[in-house]
Amino acid sequence: MSGSVGNWRVELVEVHRDLFAPPCDAAFAARGAPECGPGWHDLLDRLCVRIRKATHAGGDFRFSQIKEKYGTLRVYWDGRLSPEATIQVEEAIALAEARSATCCEVCGEPGRLHGGAWLTTRCTVHAEGRAPVESRPGLENIYIVSYVAGDDRSQITCRRYDRDTDTFTEVDPASLPVEE
Ligand SMILES: [Zn+2]
Repeated sequence: MSGSVGNWRVELVEVHRDLFAPPCDAAFAARGAPECGPGWHDLLDRLCVRIRKATHAGGDFRFSQIKEKYGTLRVYWDGRLSPEATIQVEEAIALAEARSATCCEVCGEPGRLHGGAWLTTRCTVHAEGRAPVESRPGLENIYIVSYVAGDDRSQITCRRYDRDTDTFTEVDPASLPVEE
């Protein structure tokens, strides 16, 4: 992570200018400029690199909104991409959103969801006494993803986000704890 905390948003927009809506003369005012804390700069930078790779073959991509909601990242975009590139972009966004649930929004160190007046993802230091939200043992970082496959059949996958490798691995739903 580089740059001071104060200008990290400007830095992100300037480094990845092509992914933000013009005009970008005032990077702060660029549409889609992140509305979240500096601890997520690194995961947003990773996201931008992945999106650039996914859109390398062409097409049109612009962030429309990057924000924090209920303690984790939400990313929205506009544009027109090939089906393959769209899948890659959505996958990159899913990884960034999953990573945000493991990164303190203030400092970027390992964090988890904390409660209180509102939900936040924080390390122990920046939780400032708020209690962590307990997740059911074995269900940490599990994501159920449903999508429409090419033949219009709805598919559901179950996967776990791994912070160390910044990847998803498929999980057999039968291996997870059962709701009581
Ligand atoms: Zn922190």
